[in-house]
Amino acid sequence: MKRTLYLKLLLGYALFGMLGFLTVSTLTSHMALNYIEKQTISSLYREANLLASNYASNYYRGTMTLDDVKSQFETVAAYLDTDIWVVDRNGNILINSQPDSAPNNAIQDFDISSFGTKYYQTSTFFDMFSEKMLSVFSPITINYKVRGYVLIHKSISDLVSYKDGFLNIAYLTLAIIFLCAFIVLVLFTFIVYLPIRRMTRAAKDYSEGNFDTQINVHANDELGYLASSINYMATELSTLEEDQRKFIANVSHDFRSPLTSIKGYIDAILDGTIPHDAQDKYLNIILFETERLNKLTQSMLELNKYGVRGSMMDITDFDINHTIKMVVQSFEGICKDKRISFELILTGQTCIVSADMSKIQQVLYNLADNAIKFSPPDSTITIETTEKNDKVFISVKDAGIGIPKDSIKKIWERFYKTDLSRGKDKRGTGLGLAIVKEIISSHNENINVISTEGVGTEFIFTLPMAQTGKEL
Ligand code: ATP
Ligand code: MG
Repeated sequence: MKRTLYLKLLLGYALFGMLGFLTVSTLTSHMALNYIEKQTISSLYREANLLASNYASNYYRGTMTLDDVKSQFETVAAYLDTDIWVVDRNGNILINSQPDSAPNNAIQDFDISSFGTKYYQTSTFFDMFSEKMLSVFSPITINYKVRGYVLIHKSISDLVSYKDGFLNIAYLTLAIIFLCAFIVLVLFTFIVYLPIRRMTRAAKDYSEGNFDTQINVHANDELGYLASSINYMATELSTLEEDQRKFIANVSHDFRSPLTSIKGYIDAILDGTIPHDAQDKYLNIILFETERLNKLTQSMLELNKYGVRGSMMDITDFDINHTIKMVVQSFEGICKDKRISFELILTGQTCIVSADMSKIQQVLYNLADNAIKFSPPDSTITIETTEKNDKVFISVKDAGIGIPKDSIKKIWERFYKTDLSRGKDKRGTGLGLAIVKEIISSHNENINVISTEGVGTEFIFTLPMAQTGKEL
């Protein structure tokens, strides 16, 4: 499996670290040195002014000796870690706080205008130093006349080492941020990346038809919700596959058994095993099986139509009482043979419902057919209609064999027949109630069954009353 997402994250993390380091080592370093330089210049300038006006001028006025001034300057220079000079206008060094650092007493080619308009410069100061220095000057003015200068020199390398000290703090901060980012990365790995990887693996398994894989993500967040949705989807898909397999097995079985018997009897007739005078009986069996196959095909085509729910519905307002009477009439012949009677308890003269009439006719036909098939001779089947809250409840009740408790949920499945009924009805395909269920569901209505084994069965379904039903 590709690990591109994680690789991208790791690359991003490494890039973040590199950019952070690069920024600190270039931009931060440059800005820090600038800042330190500026601060140093302004503090040294203040100091030079102070020394020029308070001490050096005293020397020129004759109120302090050169040695007194020198000893003061030496203290300040040691404190500031700088070199402090007093030079006259010609560049002769009168006071040097650190005489060893400058071997000459006179500055060659001294020219104060080399500072330009600024009061500081960065140089080796007329080659008086071997390294680069930051030099700040302040004139000593007596009676508005410049008599000399106080110069303070600070080594640039000192400033650089300040900056390095500061940068170390920046690097440490960066390292801590990097560590924090690493912790976030680890958390992200566990909270987001690993669950996503588990889901991707599961999805791959599903695409290969293996629906057993379950995703173990129990977080109470969007990912947890996604994982449980995928798990649910996988379970649904697997049952769908199972249903399909069962359906095909049932269809094949239901087609194969009549075909086998038809073929067997035809073979026997052709090769003379069945004598000529007995052929009628077997031809009738062949006819019976052919009719069964025909019914099976019809029912399957019918069920297939309901695959697309709600399609091909022809909703009209009609009298359900009338429809019930018509369906009952069509069973007259069979009822006479079995001595079964129908009792109709119908509300009002008419009861107008809004539904697809031919489909509801089929529902009634299938329910009545079952009631007759599974009722003993000399029994009564009751069909009742009641109105309640804009709905009409239609009940078909028989006193037949009933449905065992553990079969009650399965009777709606395609091809399902209870063991009890198999002996009574060999012609049944087990598709009748599946069709009934589809029709009622496509009307957005409900159907229920109440049954007690050996006592009887009642099917009750609802239909919407027509809006104009009450006036009619
Ligand atoms: P078909 O309707 O295709 O001729 P069928 O009647 O066997 O076949 P369904 O109408 O779907 O199929 O009924 C499914 C099963 O439910 C029946 O085989 C029977 O076992 C049981 N059943 C349905 N109605 C009743 C009833 N009124 N009394 C007892 N059992 C019933
Ligand atoms: Mg039936």
